[in-house]
Amino acid sequence: MSGKNCFNILEKIFVPKNKQKIEEIKGYTIKYGNIVENGRVIDEVLVSYFKAPKSYTTENMCEINSHGGNIVVKKILEMCLKNGAKLAEPGEFTKRAFLNGRIDLLQAESVIDIINAKSEKELKTGIKQLKGSLSKEIEKIKQEIMDVMVNIEVTIDYPEYDVEDVTNIQISDMLDSIEIKLDKLRRSFDNGKIIKEGIKTAIIGKPNAGKSSLLNAILKEDRAIVTEIEGTTRDTIEEFVTINGIPLKLIDTAGIREAKDEVEKIGISKSREIANEADLVIAIFDATKEFTKDDIEILNIIKGKEAIIVLNKIDLQTKIKEDDNRLLEFSKNIVSISALNNMGLEKIYNKITELFNLDQINLDNENLITNIRQKNLIEEAIKDLKNAKKSLNLGMPIDIVAISIKGILEELGKITGEEVSEDIINEIFSKFCLGK
Ligand code: GDP
Repeated sequence: MSGKNCFNILEKIFVPKNKQKIEEIKGYTIKYGNIVENGRVIDEVLVSYFKAPKSYTTENMCEINSHGGNIVVKKILEMCLKNGAKLAEPGEFTKRAFLNGRIDLLQAESVIDIINAKSEKELKTGIKQLKGSLSKEIEKIKQEIMDVMVNIEVTIDYPEYDVEDVTNIQISDMLDSIEIKLDKLRRSFDNGKIIKEGIKTAIIGKPNAGKSSLLNAILKEDRAIVTEIEGTTRDTIEEFVTINGIPLKLIDTAGIREAKDEVEKIGISKSREIANEADLVIAIFDATKEFTKDDIEILNIIKGKEAIIVLNKIDLQTKIKEDDNRLLEFSKNIVSISALNNMGLEKIYNKITELFNLDQINLDNENLITNIRQKNLIEEAIKDLKNAKKSLNLGMPIDIVAISIKGILEELGKITGEEVSEDIINEIFSKFCLGK
Protein backbone atom coordinates (compact mmCIF):
# COMPACT_ATOMS: atom_id res chain seq x y z
CA MET A 1 0.00 0.00 0.00
CA SER A 2 1.11 3.51 -0.71
CA GLY A 3 -0.32 6.84 0.45
CA LYS A 4 -0.90 9.11 3.41
CA ASN A 5 -3.35 6.74 5.12
CA CYS A 6 -1.69 3.43 4.46
CA PHE A 7 -0.39 3.01 8.01
CA ASN A 8 -3.87 3.76 9.42
CA ILE A 9 -5.37 1.05 7.25
CA LEU A 10 -2.57 -1.32 8.21
CA GLU A 11 -3.23 -0.70 11.92
CA LYS A 12 -6.80 -1.95 11.50
CA ILE A 13 -5.73 -5.34 10.17
CA PHE A 14 -2.21 -5.98 11.47
CA VAL A 15 -1.26 -6.85 15.06
CA PRO A 16 2.52 -6.69 15.45
CA LYS A 17 4.19 -8.96 18.02
CA ASN A 18 5.97 -6.00 19.60
CA LYS A 19 3.28 -3.41 20.02
CA GLN A 20 4.69 -0.09 18.91
CA LYS A 21 3.06 3.17 17.81
CA ILE A 22 3.28 3.86 14.09
CA GLU A 23 5.10 7.15 14.80
CA GLU A 24 7.79 5.23 16.64
CA ILE A 25 8.39 2.77 13.83
CA LYS A 26 11.35 3.72 11.68
CA GLY A 27 11.36 3.50 7.89
CA TYR A 28 13.16 0.53 6.32
CA THR A 29 12.14 -1.81 9.12
CA ILE A 30 10.32 -5.12 9.02
CA LYS A 31 7.83 -6.13 11.69
CA TYR A 32 6.57 -9.58 12.50
CA GLY A 33 2.93 -10.19 13.50
CA ASN A 34 -0.52 -11.40 12.45
CA ILE A 35 -3.21 -10.22 10.11
CA VAL A 36 -6.31 -10.40 12.26
CA GLU A 37 -10.02 -10.06 11.44
CA ASN A 38 -12.61 -10.02 14.25
CA GLY A 39 -10.09 -11.62 16.58
CA ARG A 40 -9.34 -14.43 14.11
CA VAL A 41 -5.79 -14.79 12.79
CA ILE A 42 -5.82 -14.82 8.99
CA ASP A 43 -2.09 -15.31 8.51
CA GLU A 44 1.26 -14.83 10.11
CA VAL A 45 3.08 -12.08 8.18
CA LEU A 46 6.05 -9.74 7.88
CA VAL A 47 5.37 -6.09 7.16
CA SER A 48 7.98 -3.73 5.69
CA TYR A 49 7.66 -0.02 6.48
CA PHE A 50 8.83 2.80 4.28
CA LYS A 51 8.27 6.32 5.52
CA ALA A 52 7.74 9.32 3.25
CA PRO A 53 9.68 10.60 1.43
CA LYS A 54 12.05 7.63 1.41
CA SER A 55 9.99 5.11 -0.53
CA TYR A 56 9.42 4.00 -4.12
CA THR A 57 6.49 6.41 -4.49
CA THR A 58 7.89 8.97 -1.98
CA GLU A 59 4.69 8.40 0.05
CA ASN A 60 4.25 6.32 3.19
CA MET A 61 4.37 2.70 2.06
CA CYS A 62 4.03 -0.74 3.57
CA GLU A 63 4.35 -4.20 2.12
CA ILE A 64 2.68 -7.22 3.65
CA ASN A 65 4.50 -10.51 3.08
CA SER A 66 2.11 -13.37 3.70
CA HIS A 67 2.45 -17.06 3.07
CA GLY A 68 1.09 -16.60 -0.43
CA GLY A 69 -1.42 -18.83 -2.11
CA ASN A 70 -4.62 -17.57 -3.63
CA ILE A 71 -6.98 -17.60 -0.67
CA VAL A 72 -4.76 -15.86 1.90
CA VAL A 73 -3.58 -13.14 -0.47
CA LYS A 74 -7.09 -12.46 -1.70
CA LYS A 75 -8.38 -12.30 1.87
CA ILE A 76 -5.71 -9.79 2.97
CA LEU A 77 -6.32 -7.72 -0.15
CA GLU A 78 -10.05 -7.67 0.60
CA MET A 79 -9.35 -6.53 4.16
CA CYS A 80 -7.17 -3.68 2.92
CA LEU A 81 -9.89 -2.61 0.49
CA LYS A 82 -12.66 -2.89 3.12
CA ASN A 83 -10.69 -0.63 5.42
CA GLY A 84 -10.29 2.15 2.89
CA ALA A 85 -7.56 1.19 0.41
CA LYS A 86 -8.18 1.48 -3.32
CA LEU A 87 -6.92 -1.10 -5.81
CA ALA A 88 -3.85 0.15 -7.69
CA GLU A 89 -4.18 0.66 -11.42
CA PRO A 90 -1.54 -0.80 -13.76
CA GLY A 91 1.73 1.00 -13.12
CA GLU A 92 0.22 3.18 -10.40
CA PHE A 93 3.13 2.85 -7.99
CA THR A 94 5.59 3.91 -10.69
CA LYS A 95 3.17 6.60 -11.85
CA ARG A 96 3.08 8.07 -8.34
CA ALA A 97 6.89 8.00 -8.21
CA PHE A 98 6.79 10.03 -11.43
CA LEU A 99 4.01 12.43 -10.39
CA ASN A 100 5.73 13.01 -7.05
CA GLY A 101 8.93 13.91 -8.90
CA ARG A 102 11.19 11.09 -7.77
CA ILE A 103 11.78 9.80 -11.30
CA ASP A 104 11.13 11.28 -14.73
CA LEU A 105 9.14 9.74 -17.55
CA LEU A 106 12.20 8.17 -19.19
CA GLN A 107 13.03 6.39 -15.97
CA ALA A 108 9.44 5.26 -15.55
CA GLU A 109 9.52 3.80 -19.06
CA SER A 110 12.75 2.01 -18.26
CA VAL A 111 10.91 0.13 -15.51
CA ILE A 112 8.73 -1.44 -18.23
CA ASP A 113 11.84 -2.25 -20.30
CA ILE A 114 13.46 -3.94 -17.31
CA ILE A 115 10.38 -6.03 -16.58
CA ASN A 116 10.03 -7.04 -20.23
CA ALA A 117 13.74 -7.53 -21.02
CA LYS A 118 14.40 -10.66 -23.08
CA SER A 119 18.19 -10.42 -23.16
CA GLU A 120 21.03 -9.27 -20.90
CA LYS A 121 21.76 -6.38 -23.25
CA GLU A 122 18.19 -5.14 -23.10
CA LEU A 123 18.26 -5.38 -19.32
CA LYS A 124 21.53 -3.45 -19.20
CA THR A 125 20.02 -0.68 -21.33
CA GLY A 126 16.97 -0.53 -19.05
CA ILE A 127 18.98 -0.32 -15.83
CA LYS A 128 21.13 2.42 -17.31
CA GLN A 129 18.06 4.42 -18.24
CA LEU A 130 16.55 3.88 -14.80
CA LYS A 131 19.66 5.39 -13.27
CA GLY A 132 18.93 8.51 -15.29
CA SER A 133 21.77 8.42 -17.76
CA LEU A 134 19.59 9.27 -20.78
CA SER A 135 17.70 11.89 -18.76
CA LYS A 136 20.98 13.62 -17.95
CA GLU A 137 21.99 13.67 -21.61
CA ILE A 138 18.66 15.24 -22.58
CA GLU A 139 18.98 17.79 -19.76
CA LYS A 140 22.40 18.75 -21.09
CA ILE A 141 21.02 19.30 -24.58
CA LYS A 142 18.20 21.39 -23.11
CA GLN A 143 20.74 23.51 -21.28
CA GLU A 144 22.56 24.13 -24.55
CA ILE A 145 19.31 25.23 -26.16
CA MET A 146 18.65 27.60 -23.28
CA ASP A 147 22.08 29.11 -23.94
CA VAL A 148 21.02 29.73 -27.53
CA MET A 149 17.83 31.36 -26.26
CA VAL A 150 19.87 33.70 -24.05
CA ASN A 151 21.89 34.76 -27.08
CA ILE A 152 18.71 35.42 -28.99
CA GLU A 153 17.13 37.41 -26.21
CA VAL A 154 20.14 39.70 -26.11
CA THR A 155 19.63 40.39 -29.82
CA ILE A 156 15.93 41.03 -29.34
CA ASP A 157 16.28 43.18 -26.22
CA TYR A 158 19.26 45.25 -27.31
CA PRO A 159 18.90 45.72 -31.05
CA GLU A 160 20.99 48.93 -30.85
CA TYR A 161 24.08 46.75 -30.38
CA ASP A 162 25.01 46.04 -33.92
CA VAL A 163 26.03 42.47 -33.21
CA GLU A 164 23.42 40.59 -35.14
CA ASP A 165 25.70 39.10 -37.77
CA VAL A 166 28.07 37.67 -35.24
CA THR A 167 25.22 36.39 -33.15
CA ASN A 168 23.59 34.70 -36.11
CA ILE A 169 26.75 32.78 -36.80
CA GLN A 170 27.06 31.88 -33.15
CA ILE A 171 23.47 30.71 -32.99
CA SER A 172 23.93 28.75 -36.16
CA ASP A 173 27.04 27.03 -34.74
CA MET A 174 25.24 26.20 -31.52
CA LEU A 175 22.31 24.76 -33.44
CA ASP A 176 24.70 22.62 -35.49
CA SER A 177 26.23 21.20 -32.34
CA ILE A 178 22.79 20.42 -30.90
CA GLU A 179 21.73 18.80 -34.15
CA ILE A 180 24.68 16.40 -34.05
CA LYS A 181 23.68 15.30 -30.55
CA LEU A 182 20.01 14.89 -31.37
CA ASP A 183 20.85 13.03 -34.54
CA LYS A 184 23.07 10.63 -32.62
CA LEU A 185 20.24 9.91 -30.21
CA ARG A 186 17.81 9.37 -33.07
CA ARG A 187 20.17 6.94 -34.74
CA SER A 188 20.67 5.10 -31.47
CA PHE A 189 17.09 3.87 -31.87
CA ASP A 190 18.22 1.70 -34.79
CA ASN A 191 20.86 0.14 -32.56
CA GLY A 192 18.27 -0.38 -29.86
CA LYS A 193 16.10 -2.13 -32.41
CA ILE A 194 18.98 -4.33 -33.55
CA ILE A 195 19.70 -5.35 -29.95
CA LYS A 196 16.05 -6.12 -29.41
CA GLU A 197 15.14 -7.76 -32.69
CA GLY A 198 18.27 -8.60 -34.71
CA ILE A 199 18.91 -7.84 -38.40
CA LYS A 200 16.37 -9.66 -40.50
CA THR A 201 18.47 -11.33 -43.16
CA ALA A 202 17.40 -13.19 -46.30
CA ILE A 203 19.67 -15.36 -48.45
CA ILE A 204 18.49 -15.45 -52.04
CA GLY A 205 19.91 -17.00 -55.19
CA LYS A 206 19.24 -19.41 -58.02
CA PRO A 207 18.91 -23.11 -57.29
CA ASN A 208 22.35 -24.64 -56.61
CA ALA A 209 24.01 -21.28 -56.01
CA GLY A 210 24.74 -22.43 -52.45
CA LYS A 211 21.99 -20.89 -50.31
CA SER A 212 21.58 -23.81 -47.96
CA SER A 213 25.32 -24.42 -47.80
CA LEU A 214 25.83 -20.82 -46.68
CA LEU A 215 22.98 -21.02 -44.20
CA ASN A 216 24.39 -24.20 -42.73
CA ALA A 217 27.86 -22.70 -42.54
CA ILE A 218 26.52 -19.69 -40.63
CA LEU A 219 24.42 -21.82 -38.31
CA LYS A 220 27.37 -24.09 -37.60
CA GLU A 221 29.44 -21.13 -36.43
CA ASP A 222 26.82 -20.12 -33.93
CA ARG A 223 26.57 -22.28 -30.89
CA ALA A 224 23.44 -20.68 -29.53
CA ILE A 225 20.46 -20.67 -31.83
CA VAL A 226 18.00 -18.84 -29.66
CA THR A 227 14.72 -19.12 -31.43
CA GLU A 228 12.90 -20.54 -34.37
CA ILE A 229 10.00 -18.34 -35.34
CA GLU A 230 7.43 -18.83 -38.08
CA GLY A 231 8.22 -16.32 -40.81
CA THR A 232 5.54 -14.14 -42.30
CA THR A 233 6.24 -15.52 -45.75
CA ARG A 234 4.81 -18.95 -46.24
CA ASP A 235 7.30 -21.80 -46.09
CA THR A 236 9.84 -19.84 -44.08
CA ILE A 237 11.07 -20.00 -40.53
CA GLU A 238 13.34 -17.49 -38.83
CA GLU A 239 16.42 -18.46 -36.89
CA PHE A 240 18.07 -16.08 -34.48
CA VAL A 241 21.84 -16.35 -34.44
CA THR A 242 24.60 -14.18 -33.03
CA ILE A 243 27.80 -14.13 -35.02
CA ASN A 244 30.73 -12.13 -33.61
CA GLY A 245 28.16 -10.33 -31.51
CA ILE A 246 26.10 -9.57 -34.60
CA PRO A 247 22.49 -10.53 -34.05
CA LEU A 248 21.01 -11.93 -37.26
CA LYS A 249 17.48 -13.12 -37.71
CA LEU A 250 17.92 -15.41 -40.69
CA ILE A 251 14.93 -16.07 -42.84
CA ASP A 252 15.33 -19.73 -43.61
CA THR A 253 13.64 -20.51 -46.87
CA ALA A 254 13.28 -24.19 -46.22
CA GLY A 255 10.27 -24.41 -48.49
CA ILE A 256 12.11 -23.04 -51.49
CA ARG A 257 15.14 -25.15 -50.94
CA GLU A 258 13.05 -28.25 -51.19
CA ALA A 259 11.41 -27.11 -54.39
CA LYS A 260 14.57 -27.51 -56.45
CA ASP A 261 12.89 -29.22 -59.36
CA GLU A 262 10.32 -26.50 -59.81
CA VAL A 263 10.58 -24.03 -62.63
CA GLU A 264 13.10 -21.37 -61.77
CA LYS A 265 10.53 -18.64 -62.25
CA ILE A 266 8.83 -19.65 -59.02
CA GLY A 267 12.17 -19.37 -57.25
CA ILE A 268 12.67 -15.81 -58.42
CA SER A 269 9.26 -14.53 -57.39
CA LYS A 270 9.63 -16.25 -54.03
CA SER A 271 13.02 -14.66 -53.60
CA ARG A 272 11.52 -11.25 -54.26
CA GLU A 273 8.83 -11.86 -51.67
CA ILE A 274 11.39 -12.87 -49.06
CA ALA A 275 13.77 -10.02 -49.84
CA ASN A 276 10.94 -7.55 -49.30
CA GLU A 277 10.60 -8.77 -45.73
CA ALA A 278 14.28 -8.36 -44.91
CA ASP A 279 16.54 -5.61 -43.50
CA LEU A 280 19.47 -7.21 -45.31
CA VAL A 281 19.60 -9.37 -48.43
CA ILE A 282 22.48 -11.69 -49.19
CA ALA A 283 22.37 -12.56 -52.90
CA ILE A 284 24.47 -15.61 -53.60
CA PHE A 285 25.83 -16.62 -57.03
CA ASP A 286 27.63 -19.69 -58.29
CA ALA A 287 30.86 -18.06 -59.47
CA THR A 288 31.81 -21.08 -61.59
CA LYS A 289 28.90 -20.46 -63.95
CA GLU A 290 28.51 -17.84 -66.64
CA PHE A 291 26.06 -15.05 -65.96
CA THR A 292 22.48 -15.69 -67.10
CA LYS A 293 19.22 -13.78 -67.39
CA ASP A 294 18.11 -15.18 -64.03
CA ASP A 295 21.18 -13.72 -62.35
CA ILE A 296 20.14 -10.29 -63.58
CA GLU A 297 16.68 -10.89 -62.11
CA ILE A 298 18.23 -11.72 -58.76
CA LEU A 299 20.33 -8.56 -58.97
CA ASN A 300 17.22 -6.54 -59.74
CA ILE A 301 15.69 -7.76 -56.51
CA ILE A 302 18.49 -6.26 -54.41
CA LYS A 303 18.38 -2.91 -56.16
CA GLY A 304 17.94 -0.16 -53.57
CA LYS A 305 18.19 -2.54 -50.63
CA GLU A 306 20.87 -3.12 -48.02
CA ALA A 307 22.55 -6.03 -49.73
CA ILE A 308 25.68 -8.11 -50.06
CA ILE A 309 26.58 -9.97 -53.24
CA VAL A 310 28.27 -13.25 -52.42
CA LEU A 311 30.28 -15.10 -55.09
CA ASN A 312 30.34 -18.72 -54.02
CA LYS A 313 32.46 -21.77 -54.86
CA ILE A 314 35.79 -19.96 -55.17
CA ASP A 315 37.52 -23.24 -54.35
CA LEU A 316 36.77 -24.12 -57.98
CA GLN A 317 37.71 -22.43 -61.28
CA THR A 318 35.55 -19.27 -61.36
CA LYS A 319 34.03 -17.29 -64.20
CA ILE A 320 32.67 -14.27 -62.30
CA LYS A 321 34.98 -11.99 -60.27
CA GLU A 322 34.45 -9.27 -57.64
CA ASP A 323 35.41 -6.49 -60.07
CA ASP A 324 32.74 -7.48 -62.59
CA ASN A 325 30.98 -4.31 -63.70
CA ARG A 326 27.70 -6.13 -64.18
CA LEU A 327 27.71 -6.74 -60.42
CA LEU A 328 29.18 -3.43 -59.32
CA GLU A 329 26.31 -1.69 -61.02
CA PHE A 330 24.00 -3.18 -58.38
CA SER A 331 26.13 -3.14 -55.25
CA LYS A 332 29.62 -2.28 -54.10
CA ASN A 333 29.42 -4.91 -51.38
CA ILE A 334 30.83 -7.98 -53.06
CA VAL A 335 32.62 -10.83 -51.33
CA SER A 336 33.93 -14.20 -52.51
CA ILE A 337 33.53 -17.31 -50.42
CA SER A 338 33.37 -21.04 -50.43
CA ALA A 339 30.35 -22.02 -48.40
CA LEU A 340 31.21 -25.68 -48.63
CA ASN A 341 34.63 -25.14 -47.06
CA ASN A 342 33.62 -22.41 -44.59
CA MET A 343 35.95 -20.01 -46.36
CA GLY A 344 35.43 -16.25 -46.33
CA LEU A 345 32.43 -16.11 -44.01
CA GLU A 346 34.18 -13.46 -41.90
CA LYS A 347 34.16 -11.20 -44.97
CA ILE A 348 30.37 -11.35 -44.91
CA TYR A 349 30.27 -10.53 -41.18
CA ASN A 350 32.64 -7.61 -41.67
CA LYS A 351 30.41 -6.22 -44.40
CA ILE A 352 27.35 -6.53 -42.16
CA THR A 353 29.22 -4.76 -39.35
CA GLU A 354 30.09 -1.98 -41.79
CA LEU A 355 26.61 -1.69 -43.31
CA PHE A 356 24.83 -1.44 -39.95
CA ASN A 357 27.56 0.49 -38.08
CA LEU A 358 27.61 -2.29 -35.55
CA ASP A 359 31.02 -1.44 -34.14
CA GLN A 360 29.54 1.85 -33.03
CA ILE A 361 27.08 0.18 -30.67
CA ASN A 362 28.69 0.62 -27.31
CA LEU A 363 26.34 0.04 -24.44
CA ASP A 364 28.81 1.32 -21.87
CA ASN A 365 29.29 4.78 -23.31
CA GLU A 366 26.15 5.31 -25.26
CA ASN A 367 22.57 6.03 -24.36
CA LEU A 368 20.07 4.22 -26.51
CA ILE A 369 16.63 5.46 -27.33
CA THR A 370 14.49 2.46 -26.59
CA ASN A 371 10.97 3.21 -27.62
CA ILE A 372 9.09 4.74 -30.48
CA ARG A 373 7.54 7.51 -28.34
CA GLN A 374 10.99 8.81 -27.46
CA LYS A 375 12.19 8.45 -31.05
CA ASN A 376 9.22 10.36 -32.47
CA LEU A 377 9.79 13.24 -30.06
CA ILE A 378 13.49 13.41 -30.96
CA GLU A 379 12.45 13.53 -34.62
CA GLU A 380 10.00 16.36 -33.90
CA ALA A 381 12.77 18.23 -32.07
CA ILE A 382 15.07 17.78 -35.08
CA LYS A 383 12.33 19.14 -37.35
CA ASP A 384 12.05 22.27 -35.19
CA LEU A 385 15.80 22.59 -35.21
CA LYS A 386 15.94 22.41 -39.00
CA ASN A 387 13.21 25.04 -39.21
CA ALA A 388 15.15 27.31 -36.89
CA LYS A 389 18.25 26.93 -39.06
CA LYS A 390 16.26 27.57 -42.20
CA SER A 391 14.71 30.76 -40.81
CA LEU A 392 18.13 31.89 -39.69
CA ASN A 393 19.64 31.29 -43.12
CA LEU A 394 16.77 33.09 -44.84
CA GLY A 395 17.45 36.11 -42.65
CA MET A 396 14.05 35.96 -40.98
CA PRO A 397 13.48 38.08 -37.86
CA ILE A 398 15.15 36.50 -34.87
CA ASP A 399 11.92 36.13 -32.91
CA ILE A 400 10.63 33.80 -35.65
CA VAL A 401 13.77 31.70 -35.18
CA ALA A 402 13.11 31.76 -31.46
CA ILE A 403 9.68 30.14 -31.90
CA SER A 404 11.23 27.05 -33.53
CA ILE A 405 13.94 26.88 -30.91
CA LYS A 406 11.33 26.94 -28.15
CA GLY A 407 9.66 24.08 -30.02
CA ILE A 408 12.80 21.96 -29.59
CA LEU A 409 12.68 22.58 -25.85
CA GLU A 410 9.05 21.56 -25.70
CA GLU A 411 9.62 18.28 -27.56
CA LEU A 412 12.52 17.40 -25.29
CA GLY A 413 10.40 18.32 -22.27
CA LYS A 414 7.85 15.78 -23.42
CA ILE A 415 10.48 13.05 -23.43
CA THR A 416 11.37 13.54 -19.79
CA GLY A 417 7.73 14.25 -18.94
CA GLU A 418 7.82 17.89 -17.89
CA GLU A 419 5.55 19.00 -20.70
CA VAL A 420 3.50 15.95 -21.30
CA SER A 421 -0.31 15.73 -21.28
CA GLU A 422 -2.31 13.60 -18.88
CA ASP A 423 -3.58 11.38 -21.71
CA ILE A 424 -0.06 10.45 -22.72
CA ILE A 425 0.90 9.76 -19.11
CA ASN A 426 -2.10 7.49 -18.69
CA GLU A 427 -1.27 5.67 -21.90
CA ILE A 428 2.31 5.06 -20.86
CA PHE A 429 1.40 3.65 -17.47
CA SER A 430 -1.40 1.51 -18.84
CA LYS A 431 1.34 -0.65 -20.41
CA PHE A 432 2.49 -1.74 -16.96
CA CYS A 433 1.20 -4.77 -15.19
CA LEU A 434 -0.85 -4.47 -12.03
CA GLY A 435 1.05 -3.76 -8.86
CA LYS A 436 4.15 -2.27 -10.46
P1 GDP B 1 21.00 -24.00 -53.02
O1 GDP B 1 20.15 -24.72 -54.00
O2 GDP B 1 21.22 -22.60 -53.44
O3 GDP B 1 20.53 -24.11 -51.61
O4 GDP B 1 22.45 -24.67 -53.13
P2 GDP B 1 23.13 -25.76 -52.17
O5 GDP B 1 23.68 -25.13 -50.96
O6 GDP B 1 22.24 -26.91 -52.01
O7 GDP B 1 24.39 -26.17 -53.07
C1 GDP B 1 24.24 -26.74 -54.36
C2 GDP B 1 25.45 -27.60 -54.65
O8 GDP B 1 26.64 -26.81 -54.68
C3 GDP B 1 25.67 -28.67 -53.61
O9 GDP B 1 26.08 -29.84 -54.24
C4 GDP B 1 26.81 -28.12 -52.78
O10 GDP B 1 27.59 -29.13 -52.19
C5 GDP B 1 27.59 -27.33 -53.78
N1 GDP B 1 28.32 -26.23 -53.18
C6 GDP B 1 27.82 -25.25 -52.37
N2 GDP B 1 28.78 -24.38 -52.01
C7 GDP B 1 29.94 -24.82 -52.59
C8 GDP B 1 31.29 -24.35 -52.56
O11 GDP B 1 31.65 -23.35 -51.94
N3 GDP B 1 32.19 -25.05 -53.30
C9 GDP B 1 31.85 -26.18 -54.01
N4 GDP B 1 32.80 -26.80 -54.68
N5 GDP B 1 30.60 -26.64 -54.03
C10 GDP B 1 29.63 -25.98 -53.33
